[in-house]
Amino acid sequence: MPYCRDCGNSEYFTASQISPVAPTATGTISGLVGKFDEDGELVEMEAMGASEVTRDAAAVNPLVYFDTCMECGSNRITW
Ligand SMILES: [Zn+2]
Repeated sequence: MPYCRDCGNSEYFTASQISPVAPTATGTISGLVGKFDEDGELVEMEAMGASEVTRDAAAVNPLVYFDTCMECGSNRITW
């Protein structure tokens, strides 16, 4: 499962390579946010600018896409 080595977050990760369409009030830093369960399975995805193709690709291979901790912004993620 994904795990942030800096803050311990193992639930919410973002994809740094996907830019949001527009900045949001909540300060989203990526066009794609993934939520993972305790088994490391991708259970939810929120796409703010990611295309359908990108969403599908990320669902199939989350390890490649979700490279940034949403809690602290670190990219020191252990899978
Ligand atoms: Zn973190």
